[in-house]
Amino acid sequence: MTAPELLEVRDLGVEFTAPDGSPLRAVRGVSFTLRRGETLAVVGESGSGKSTTALALNRMLPGTGRITTGTVRLEGRDLAAADETELRAVRGARIGMVFQDPMTALNPVLTAGRHIDEALRAHGNHDKAARRARTVELLDRVGIPDPHRRADDHPHQFSGGQRQRILIAMALAGEPDVLLADEPTTALDATVQDQILALLGDLNRETGTALVLITHNMGVVARACERVLVMYGGTVVEDGPTAEVLTRPRHPYTAGLLAAVP
Ligand code: ADP
Ligand code: MG
Repeated sequence: MTAPELLEVRDLGVEFTAPDGSPLRAVRGVSFTLRRGETLAVVGESGSGKSTTALALNRMLPGTGRITTGTVRLEGRDLAAADETELRAVRGARIGMVFQDPMTALNPVLTAGRHIDEALRAHGNHDKAARRARTVELLDRVGIPDPHRRADDHPHQFSGGQRQRILIAMALAGEPDVLLADEPTTALDATVQDQILALLGDLNRETGTALVLITHNMGVVARACERVLVMYGGTVVEDGPTAEVLTRPRHPYTAGLLAAVP
């Protein structure tokens, strides 16, 4: 028997409820497979369902969002049908997330070190001294200079790029099998974007964490991702090796997207 794939999404459907009470189908019939250590890009215009798909994977849908069809199998276990206890064990420890805006994700009154310390504690590390050592190690790993000292600084004392690095360090605290990064560099200037994306690529190669990168940057997709999903109107319209999708797009939306790349 072959081992199950790391993540197998089949026929995923997600609905929200509109203010007038009518159902709003955000995602339908989405299927894809993520192998261990793979790098997968998800692209598509605003509102095409990228974030909703990512959030559905570990059942963190906001507001009225709910999974209405399909399965999300993590090594065979269907998370779409899992209970809260099981989901808590998955979030962070199996599937880590990095979001777009580090400032809203960080608590202004807590130090960088405390953020990571809390993440380590949530993942069952109960030895304070070991957590401190690991915190400094993680800050160093994500490229924060002088991590011993900087662990005691607060979010506003870091640059935007450094705050995103702190969020990545928090996501790494659980040693996840999958790192979901939802437009992690949108709020940053171009040079810093490249540095953060390079860091995510390095982490994928060094730790074997699979990377799902939601991005608008086709240059990054071409350089950093083995496979690409293109979403349009809540469905997946392309799924293939990046080189193939970029040279022989099958859907008109993808062709238009590529024409827009300088
Ligand atoms: P993308 O990330 O590709 O920009 P989203 O997944 O955010 O797209 O949105 C997909 C659809 O789901 C859109 O029609 C959006 O309006 C809807 N949607 C997303 N979040 C919510 C929410 N919290 N409440 C209601 N509708 C939402
Ligand atoms: Mg989004």
